[in-house]
Parts: sequence; C-alpha cells; structure tokens
Amino acid sequence: MKLAMLARNARLYSHTRLVAAAKARGHEIDVIDTLKCYMNIASHRPEVRYKGRALEGFDAVIPRIGASVTFYGLAVLRQFEMMGVYPLNESVAIGRSRDKLRGLQLLSRRGIGLPVTAFAHVTSQADDLIDMVGGTPLIIKLLEGTQGIGVVLAETRTSAKSMIEAFGGVGANIMVQEYIKEANGSDVRAFVIGGKVVAAMQRKGAAGEFRSNLHRGGQAKAVKITPEERSTAVRAAKILGLNVCGVDMLRSNHGPVVMEVNSTPGLEGIESATGTDIAGQIIEFLEKNAAPNKTKTRGDG
Ligand code: ADP
Repeated sequence: MKLAMLARNARLYSHTRLVAAAKARGHEIDVIDTLKCYMNIASHRPEVRYKGRALEGFDAVIPRIGASVTFYGLAVLRQFEMMGVYPLNESVAIGRSRDKLRGLQLLSRRGIGLPVTAFAHVTSQADDLIDMVGGTPLIIKLLEGTQGIGVVLAETRTSAKSMIEAFGGVGANIMVQEYIKEANGSDVRAFVIGGKVVAAMQRKGAAGEFRSNLHRGGQAKAVKITPEERSTAVRAAKILGLNVCGVDMLRSNHGPVVMEVNSTPGLEGIESATGTDIAGQIIEFLEKNAAPNKTKTRGDG
C-alpha cells in the first residue's frame, strides 16, 4: 500500500511508530504536514497539493490531526475522502468526537452510560445546574480543553457557583458533571481497532490529583476490563463511526460511564503499559479494509 499520514510533527512517538510499522510490513508511507496542504475545492477533479505538486496514488490516509488544527485538518482529510482515498477514521466521525458535547449527545441517545452532565451558556441559573447533576462535589469542564486542562473539581456549592459564574463571565462553554468519586482518581482507556478492544490500561492520577491524565503526571498500567466495559467501548466507537479510538471510561457504582472518545489516541502510553503492538495492528486494519471509494460519508452527515 501507499499510505499518507497527516501529522504536524513526524518525530512524535505515535507517528514514528506508525511509520516504522508500515515500513516493516512492506508499505510506503509519506508523512504530510497537514497545514502545508492546500487544495482547490471547486474543481471537479478533487486533489490535495503539497509543496507544488498534487498528492496522488494513495491507498489510505492516516489522520493524526491535533485538537488545535481540527478545522483545517478535517478539511484536508475531507478532500482526500472526495478523492476516494480510504481514511483510517472518517472526517465526519472525528468531527463528532472532537466536539465533546456532540459526542456525548450521540452516545446518550443510544443508551451509553455517561456521568450526569449539564451544559449551559447562560450561567445565571448556577443553582439549578448544580442541582441537575445531583449537587456537589461536581466537575466543571471547559468544552475546548484537552489533556486535563480546563477540568476542575468544585467541592462545595459556593465554589461551584463562583466557578460557573466565572467561566460564564468570560464567555466559555462549560459542562457541569457529576463527580464520580468512587473512580478514585483513575480511569480506564480501552483502545478500539476495527470494532474490537485490542488493549486496555488504567490510568491513576498523581497523589492528591483527581485527574488521571498522563500529561498531568498520571501513571498507566495494563488492566483487565469487564465484559460490560468492553461492550461499552465497542458500542461507543461504533456510534461515533470511529475505526480507531481510545474510549475513556470511569468505573462508577452504576457501571462504566464514558467520559470521552478520543479519535487520535496516543500510542506511547498504551503500548508501554500493555506491551501491545498497536501501531502494527492499525496498519493491519488498513491492509484488510482500505479500498478506493469505501468512505461511508464522503464528508457529509
Ligand atoms: P481531557 O479531555 O482534558 O483529558 P477529561 O474529561 O478526560 O478531560 O478529564 C480529565 C480527567 O479528569 C479524567 O481522565 C478523569 O481522571 C478526571 N475526570 C473527568 N471527569 C470526571 C468525573 N465526572 N468524575 C471523576 N473524575 C473525572
């Protein structure tokens, strides 16, 4: 196969692993800087141009689009889809998961367990928002945050109210969420490829930290997940339409609840915690599934 990987930084662990795995399996792979692609979207012969030439002849494209370049990155990926190139994850599916609220709404509609979550723009009804999620302690999340930045724990009603009002005052979109105390500062990430959980890890926050993000000093170890967690992860991936993703769940008293589905999951934490060759399995998935014009949505929907 001839593969394209859309990535800004070729040196990141996940990206070097994917390149090595593709080459080891006899494929050609070009790393293409997403923001340096440009295109004529009105042409009836869609193409993506890069460094003065058209990108042609690719069997599949691996989108590794960072949160900060979602808008442009998805436009580039969509253009590849218009050309009939098979995407590891489709632009529409990535878009669903990048918008945390949209993702949760879609999962909720299909009966996936979620923490009780409220969303508001006007924050004059802070008391009602707090009551909606069952009172304090509660979690407040900035909709645009990643890597645990913008996730805060409010222990008392007074602090919850002032935080909600403060975020509202600067015009931020926030989610107010039930605090799953029994998760004990840890969460479970199930890594899904092609409708199967191929590896799972438990992340635990540093002492005194309720956020388990590895970027915030959390530690990861392999974990055996329950059948319910497995089916929740697989269903969540399917509902959002993602072939490859990391499904982050909290272990609550009422079963697994999904916090987020990550459509560009990092490989370093999960490969080192579980010893699984995730990069190889991603390339294997493409070997089995990549075919021209197989994209389900072609950018619409
Ligand atoms: P980000 O997308 O920025 O990583 P998350 O929503 O994943 O934000 O939250 C970061 C971390 O905070 C999670 O990994 C989890 O450990 C903790 N956390 C998030 N939401 C809750 C919650 N409702 N109850 C308990 N802990 C939570």
